[in-house]
Amino acid sequence: MQHTNSKPLLTAMVGAIGLFSWAYFAAAAPSVSRLTPPSELFKSGDPNPPYIARFLPGQRFDLQATISPDPGQTIAAAQFFVDGVILPATVSWAPATVADKPANTVVVSVRAYANAAAGVHTFGITAVQSDNLPVAAVGNFQVVPVQPTGLAAKRIIIMIGDGMGLSHRTAARIMYKGISQGKANGPLSMDTMPFTGVVTTHSLNSIVTDSSPGASCYATGNKANNNQHGVFPDDTTQNGDNPRIESIGEYLHRTQGRALGIVTTTDLFDSTPGAFGSHTQQRAASTGICDEFFDERNATGLAVLMGGGRKWFLPAGTLGSGRSPDTDYVVPNDVASAWGVPAAGIDPARNLLGEFTAAGFNYVPDATSLNAVQSGTSKLLGLFNFSNMNVAKDKIDKRRSPSTPGVVDDFGFPDQPMLDEMATKALQVLDQYSEGFVLMVEGGSIDKQAHLMDSERWMIDMIEFDRAIERCQEYAASHPDTLVIVTADHECAGAHVIGASRVTHAQLLARVATGGGVAQVRNGVVGTLDQAGFPKYTMAADGYPVTTDIDFRMLVGYACNADRFENWLTNLLPLQNASHGIATSPPLPGYPQNPLQRDTNGNFMVTGQIADAIATHTASDIVISATGRGSSLFTGVMDNTDVFFKVARVALGDNRIITETMNLVGNPTRGGSREGVNPADQNQE
Ligand SMILES: [Zn+2]
Repeated sequence: MQHTNSKPLLTAMVGAIGLFSWAYFAAAAPSVSRLTPPSELFKSGDPNPPYIARFLPGQRFDLQATISPDPGQTIAAAQFFVDGVILPATVSWAPATVADKPANTVVVSVRAYANAAAGVHTFGITAVQSDNLPVAAVGNFQVVPVQPTGLAAKRIIIMIGDGMGLSHRTAARIMYKGISQGKANGPLSMDTMPFTGVVTTHSLNSIVTDSSPGASCYATGNKANNNQHGVFPDDTTQNGDNPRIESIGEYLHRTQGRALGIVTTTDLFDSTPGAFGSHTQQRAASTGICDEFFDERNATGLAVLMGGGRKWFLPAGTLGSGRSPDTDYVVPNDVASAWGVPAAGIDPARNLLGEFTAAGFNYVPDATSLNAVQSGTSKLLGLFNFSNMNVAKDKIDKRRSPSTPGVVDDFGFPDQPMLDEMATKALQVLDQYSEGFVLMVEGGSIDKQAHLMDSERWMIDMIEFDRAIERCQEYAASHPDTLVIVTADHECAGAHVIGASRVTHAQLLARVATGGGVAQVRNGVVGTLDQAGFPKYTMAADGYPVTTDIDFRMLVGYACNADRFENWLTNLLPLQNASHGIATSPPLPGYPQNPLQRDTNGNFMVTGQIADAIATHTASDIVISATGRGSSLFTGVMDNTDVFFKVARVALGDNRIITETMNLVGNPTRGGSREGVNPADQNQE
């Protein structure tokens, strides 16, 4: 496919196009429809900041271009250049396989490129088609300066409350600590951190992100499309060949020898854990993502992996396995050889659990075995459920009544650990790595229960998350070379504390029992403003509410909600989200399948604003709190990708407070411009 006889022409073109003459070849017949990493210079011709793609010095990423020839022609040769110099690296070729591309469209890549020089770099592609007609395109990226002149934070703890908006924090504080005459009786653990900022959450292709780009920005420093993490988008349908960006775990393992820990309450393939240990354009590719955790453990330094998702670690065809060809993906040879990782195929029969244990991982299936993990254990794998772990409320209910069959028994996992227990053991293992570590701890079901509008369940998961934060703060207090940040990937459901009930629990039960709808379950119940007063929950010795069905309870409303019935009562059973547990087919008897099957007894339906069965994410900014070494950098309003560069700089000992590379630095020439509109054209509007 690739011919070399056009090289002199390509070289001449690089010299001719200069920095900003990107439009010169735009009218040429072959066309470049995508140039990666993404830039506004390529998309709209604007060479100014904010730069869409930014990297650490030496951080690796793939360069890629999609090139379409004229009808009847093929692309004969292509070369990448950076700052006017053709890259000597091998260009790999693949056909574009997405729909609607002209015949013979190719995707060409230079894999695992890196640039050590801080500053803005221009890069591009030159190509010729088979009749020697040329095309070229340019873009830019920034390498963020790092000056490691201070003390490095060798231990990095990134805590992500999935879907945790500001109101989720407020609700948890009211429930967990209580309010007296307007003053909180105490702070959440995350409230005690000395530095707090605000983070914007938009993804590469939408103002509203999902969890994959939401986590990927912290893992890679770059925006991703929704559904994608660890990669930039491309024009092939394969899920494992997208342009990669080196993650923080990979970068710090390769350059500093640090270990990686991933801990979550969700299924381990889920977006947040996935973004810290895999690279894929398909967040649902669960088999492939879990394979990548193992196959690329020597690139990431993976030493701790804990959560749900056991079904991806069991060979297809065995009890509980969910592995399938559809959810697996190929890591092609050009990616594998350039990045120094194994190529991967479609292999649902693989026994991933067996491979982990053979590679020296201590495997724990439940809380009892987790708590018994010996000091000196250097690699730990915990798989505590077939899919998402059960939520804190249902785990706590079982611990309080061990002999009573409960939700966790129905799901088949009666002995699941709490997140603070998982975080404690993760730190015990990672503490042994003298070069330091990156640990990501996710409270993953805050988001999932907010999607399901199960208010009490996400509030109790918030308490579980905050108790894990407390353990990590204790660790940081005794290890001063530690940075702890607590943030979210996005807000979920537009959840807000709207007030409190004006009636006792008994009165609420009686009103709901009438089936009187708005007249009984809303009017006279929902207390707003001064009618709300101060709901008071009592905590049990285990740290969780004795009951959430108190008199004059806190009430939550949703702004990005599906149709639902609301009776304000704590739901006895969780919704059986399709991703939960083994018993999805047939459904667990008695478990409601969606919010319209739940709470129908009061006959009070709240009409949703979105046409879906569940609530979903909003574009709202979220909060970041930080403590420990370098935490003073985490103030002000920042882009989510800025968080990555602050963390990485602190990890490397650059604790300067600098703003010139921040993505929220203004650009007057782009202000208010529409997506894809060349600023030069705006006066015609
Ligand atoms: Zn979500």
